[in-house]
Amino acid sequence: MSSDTDKIIIAIDGYSSTGKSTMARALASTIGYRYIDSGAMYRAVTLWAMRHGLIGADGSVDTEALAAALPAIKIDFAVRPDGSQLTTLNGEVVESAIRTLEVSAHVSPVAAIPAVRHALTRMQREMGATKGIVMDGRDIGTTVFPHAEMKVFCDASAEKRASRRLLELQAKGENVSYDEVLENVRSRDYIDEHREESPLRCAPDAVRLDNSDMTKDEQNAFLLSLFHNTIARLHANG
Ligand code: C5P
Repeated sequence: MSSDTDKIIIAIDGYSSTGKSTMARALASTIGYRYIDSGAMYRAVTLWAMRHGLIGADGSVDTEALAAALPAIKIDFAVRPDGSQLTTLNGEVVESAIRTLEVSAHVSPVAAIPAVRHALTRMQREMGATKGIVMDGRDIGTTVFPHAEMKVFCDASAEKRASRRLLELQAKGENVSYDEVLENVRSRDYIDEHREESPLRCAPDAVRLDNSDMTKDEQNAFLLSLFHNTIARLHANG
């Protein structure tokens, strides 16, 4: 465990369903840091837009109306007694509501809107102002915290990621097929990589992690060892 003065920012970025959140959450809990799931914030904005009729049947988003509504959308994380977090949207717990395939289907176009990215980036920077956080997402090491002391970029094959995501959705009782999930994983990758604003990229100083064939324990051990090495390097550099 590090002392308060040692606290750093840890950015864990990468493709969808690479298990970033699980890894990031486990690391934060082991080292006593706050965990922030930035994807949950984009999902919460998407849920708000769906509920307010700002997403058409063809998937198009009313960008202007959503940009104008952003000041009224408050996203936060409530902490359960066991330390896990629940995403809240204007005070309502929306943790399950934001994880459906329907929200997944609309989130990447919403996340491509510059006004949405600016508002959420600002909130994320405020959350990291006192350091001691592990934040996962797509642009944390490139845009939100380009000076994060530790950066990891996760990847795994689309098929492997779709299989993992299918199991999670089925465990929650969602009736979806492997093909639907694979299609969603691929289309989110495409939109995330090709948007103008903060596209999904590996930061030049990030450590790449392909976890296609790693167990959760192996991933956790990898991150923890990288964390200790980072702290040792920072101490050595004064
Ligand atoms: O991490 P998760 O898959 O829940 O994120 C949902 C979506 O939110 C991603 O597919 C991406 O479009 C968007 N996102 C983003 N930037 C982040 C985190 C998530 O654009 N930092």
